[in-house]
Amino acid sequence: MTKKYVYSFHEGNAGMRSLLGGKGANLAEMVKIGLPVPMGFTVTTEACLNYYDEDEKISEDMLSQIFQALDNLEREMGKKLGNNEDPLLVSVRSGAVISMPGMMDTILNLGLNDESVKGLAAKTENERFAYDSYRRFIQMFGNVVMEVEHDVFESIIDSVKQKKKITQDTEMDAEDWQEVINLYEDKIKEVTGREFPQDPKEQLLMSIEAVFKSWNNQRAKVYRRINKIPDDLGTAVNVQIMVFGNKGDDSGTGVAFTRNPSTGENKVYGEFLMNAQGEDVVAGIRTPQSIEQLKDVMPDIYKQFIDICALLEKHYRDMQDIEFTIENGKLFILQTRSGKRTAQAAVKIAVELVNEGLINKEEAILRVPAGQLETLLHRRIDPNAKVEAIAKGLPASPGAASGHVVFDPDEAETIGNEGQKVVLVRTETTPDDIHGIVIAQGVLTSRGGMTSHAAVVARGMGKPCVSGCEAIKIDYEKGEFQVGEIVVKKGDIISIDGSTGEVIVGEVPMIDPELSDEFNQVLKWADEVRTLKVRANADTPHDAQVALEFGAEGIGLCRTEHMFMAPDRLPIVQQMIMSETKEEREKALSKLLPIQQEDFEGIFKVMEGLPVTVRLLDPPLHEFLPNAEDLIVEISELKAKGCSKELEAKQEMLKKVRALSEMNPMLGLRGCRLGLLYPEIYIMQVKAILKAACNLTKRGIKVITEIEIPLVGHELELKTLREIVEETADKVFAEEGTKVHYFIGTMIELPRACLTAEEIANSADFFSFGTNDLTQTTFGFSRDDAEGKILPHYVEQRILSDSPFIVLDRKGVGSLMKMAVEKGRDVKSDLLIGICGEHGGEPSSVEFCHMIGLDFVSCSPFRVPIARLAAAQAAINFAR
Ligand code: ADP
Ligand code: MG
Ligand code: MG
Repeated sequence: MTKKYVYSFHEGNAGMRSLLGGKGANLAEMVKIGLPVPMGFTVTTEACLNYYDEDEKISEDMLSQIFQALDNLEREMGKKLGNNEDPLLVSVRSGAVISMPGMMDTILNLGLNDESVKGLAAKTENERFAYDSYRRFIQMFGNVVMEVEHDVFESIIDSVKQKKKITQDTEMDAEDWQEVINLYEDKIKEVTGREFPQDPKEQLLMSIEAVFKSWNNQRAKVYRRINKIPDDLGTAVNVQIMVFGNKGDDSGTGVAFTRNPSTGENKVYGEFLMNAQGEDVVAGIRTPQSIEQLKDVMPDIYKQFIDICALLEKHYRDMQDIEFTIENGKLFILQTRSGKRTAQAAVKIAVELVNEGLINKEEAILRVPAGQLETLLHRRIDPNAKVEAIAKGLPASPGAASGHVVFDPDEAETIGNEGQKVVLVRTETTPDDIHGIVIAQGVLTSRGGMTSHAAVVARGMGKPCVSGCEAIKIDYEKGEFQVGEIVVKKGDIISIDGSTGEVIVGEVPMIDPELSDEFNQVLKWADEVRTLKVRANADTPHDAQVALEFGAEGIGLCRTEHMFMAPDRLPIVQQMIMSETKEEREKALSKLLPIQQEDFEGIFKVMEGLPVTVRLLDPPLHEFLPNAEDLIVEISELKAKGCSKELEAKQEMLKKVRALSEMNPMLGLRGCRLGLLYPEIYIMQVKAILKAACNLTKRGIKVITEIEIPLVGHELELKTLREIVEETADKVFAEEGTKVHYFIGTMIELPRACLTAEEIANSADFFSFGTNDLTQTTFGFSRDDAEGKILPHYVEQRILSDSPFIVLDRKGVGSLMKMAVEKGRDVKSDLLIGICGEHGGEPSSVEFCHMIGLDFVSCSPFRVPIARLAAAQAAINFAR
């Protein structure tokens, strides 16, 4: 049996999307429900795939099906394609399964040739219309099928206009268009060596082929890559009889959304142009009128159209994006699809559709793309503003900011305290720059990745950051940076967009984040269905407070090293590191103890009654010291000045920096290794945590403490440290004269920890996946290097579909996680397991965490709403 490659609009329906493409399936559906749709047929996506299988040939079988369908259409319409007296004209429209607006090509007015154009002119008694239609057809066909550059046609029109001394297309008369047509035909012959085809059937087949081919044009490929649409779906082709919006002043064409796609407002939103065809509305040839004005121009048509909008919305139960054409006072619908919308609109529309009884809460939850919510949670550049970026770096911390360029953190502090807005621009930042970051509106660095100091600190503070913007060349000496020819000086205003990585000269209009009532409503519904708990990563009481406001149910990761980096503490931390003996070190640590204790009290208090996971010190110690190059410069300066005391101190520090320097700090002395070599550091931290807990408990505040040991790869590492923690705890409880309950667990961030999770679980009350490090160690990528230099190529070449640092790699990293969950729970069935890597706020990763049975995800405060929604979507899609 042969395959059915062609379906009449009478045969299809909306459910046949994968075969007929979105456009074809919806055209058939609209025919089915009795809407005024110009008739036609659809050549299927399978036909497109077959075309590629047959080395880009239309098979005999397909050919005869196409001609049969054409024959039926001609009979239905009582006209023949391209007939000389009264030609049937058609459009040939691409239509993929997933809509790819404007990416592939459509040809209008097919069937016209040097003879039939005369028939059209006579039949419509409108010569100008006929020749205008013909020249449009030649132009589209010449460009799409015969691959003649668009400009070639434009310049021919211009030359004729010039000769006639006219400026507008609308001033061209039939004769002018005839002249254009002759020039077009000559030019096509000259450029391609082939005649413009006069046989309508040949025109049709060539156009269908061209649409098949356009599936693989550059635009379409890029669009699919960006939107993660598979390459092997193919496109369908719709052949549809033409209706004309360019027949005069009682004709027109337009596009409309059934609700406002930008705000979600429940009001038809769109534009139309009288006496125009096809893409004229979007092409910007003339300025279109807003759809409301149609009420004045053609009241009956307006009413009919508004009714159809309502009907289509009801029928599809979603906001629709509709194309229409009016021909001599008669309305035709040419397309409907679910309309693309902003996050804000998605939320509003979903909630209102529930209130209108069109969808249920679960559908509403699924209708809001969780990943897009981020744009609602930060100050951002007004999407209506026209901005031009001079450079692009990594989108390291979302949100946008404008301010005066400052290169020096001290200066940033001074100017900032005077009330000026500043953007701190550095090659990269270190803990020494922190005061500059605190005061700045945002941070721009020319080096460093998504986990660079600047990026991490900025994200923690909820400040915009663009990192690794290699295009900007900073000259601290001159107080300027350059991008190509552009020079930006200290004091100039720039704007950065940490959600896109863009750097813009000057101030740009911004809009504030809006947590609308509808947004809160969707999140409330999400909370009702999700099973995953959502916690936040927060290091300060302020962050914890923000996290609570966004709905966090605890803290999944409190990083203590950020407390070490604050400017008032760094000197003590450095003193601790510089210590030669244990005693000296303990002395410094004892100064840190009350400070840390205060930090923890603050956080525990905010999170009253909710669990807080505190991670003991993780990063290598050298991160708290200045870098060697800077020290060398300072030393030589001091030498020149002859200040011997300071000089000695700096030389000591340099010695220490060198002693601590590692070939590969990521795999060096960090995490629990640090705790095993210098137990006094962890002991101090545990004391601070538990004293804080005791203090609050005494005051009647409920504290749930989880002490977390980082970077464990061997059970004995954890066992040893667990004993130290327990001993310390007993001492604290004896001193305080009270006891609090606490848990000890570990971050799972090394493959060996996953592989031996059944052993590690013996010493752990909980696991928390540190998927940033787990991804680094599983792939053997150092994130900061891979993100800038390797991963973009991998994604480009489709070796990886996403950066594994953004979207959790289910196959590799995910398998290790799954194994760790199973092994861990084999030993302890009630083992609490979560994830605290940045993946915890990324929708696809959250889904995976749900699927493998984690108890919680933890992410930065601003992503908590995203995680809540994503967790609900996972619960709906994958009931455990
Ligand atoms: P895209 O997918 O890029 O929107 P379409 O196939 O929808 O491309 O067509 C492009 C333009 O041509 C649209 O404005 C559409 O309404 C118009 N058009 C397509 N087919 C016809 C037709 N048969 N009659 C009148 N206008 C048409
Ligand atoms: Mg369209
Ligand atoms: Mg880690």
